[in-house]
Amino acid sequence: MSRVDEQPSTASRRAVVLLSGGLDSATVLAMAQRDGFACHALSVAYGQRHGAELAAAARVAAALGAAGHRVMQVDLAGIGGSALTDAAIAVPVEPGDGIPVTYVPARNTLLLALALGWAEVLGAEDIFIGVNAVDYSGYPDCRPAFVAAFEALARLATRAGIEGRPLRIHAPLQHLAKADIIQEGLRLGVDYRTTVSCYQADADGRACGQCDACRLRRAGFQAAGVADPTSYRYDAHPSAGR
Ligand code: ZN
Repeated sequence: MSRVDEQPSTASRRAVVLLSGGLDSATVLAMAQRDGFACHALSVAYGQRHGAELAAAARVAAALGAAGHRVMQVDLAGIGGSALTDAAIAVPVEPGDGIPVTYVPARNTLLLALALGWAEVLGAEDIFIGVNAVDYSGYPDCRPAFVAAFEALARLATRAGIEGRPLRIHAPLQHLAKADIIQEGLRLGVDYRTTVSCYQADADGRACGQCDACRLRRAGFQAAGVADPTSYRYDAHPSAGR
């Protein structure tokens, strides 16, 4: 685990905020800060294709004034089975049917489990995650039923839960369209130039313009009536950045 110095905070309530470095989780961090939480941002190096989003997470945590930011390691590449953790599986560049190969088996279950453990140690009773069931790719672990089930698990699985301090899992983006997420983030001062959503960004964080994540993000800026600040690769899709 790497860590940055954690700043003392005068806020009374601590929260763990899962921060991938993408647009959604950056917005969630800004919302949790607005709500008065001392936010401890947690990013996970899970064997994803590129490190650009982790670098973005560090920038976002610093820019939004998180009380701390840690990067934990979990090797989901040891399982594979996803275009994001197995280099032999290509990232699709066209929309398809069903749950796409960019789904990472067990990812959000593991991320929430790590957040749960850290929350117990911090004495935090709140965990924030940027899952969304509107403009998303159909991943099963982004759905409201999953979040509710994990919250129930957290009550049973933790000392805090058993002692009457159950953890709450907040998914404030759950029912928002991407354009609404962007508008909310802009109101809260999120600089989306610092975020990386692309599944196959290059080392500098420049986006491909073609993958699901790029398409949802670009459509969100369009629908929000906001210029897309994303940095695209030189060989990005011709419609990228328009
Ligand atoms: Zn992309």
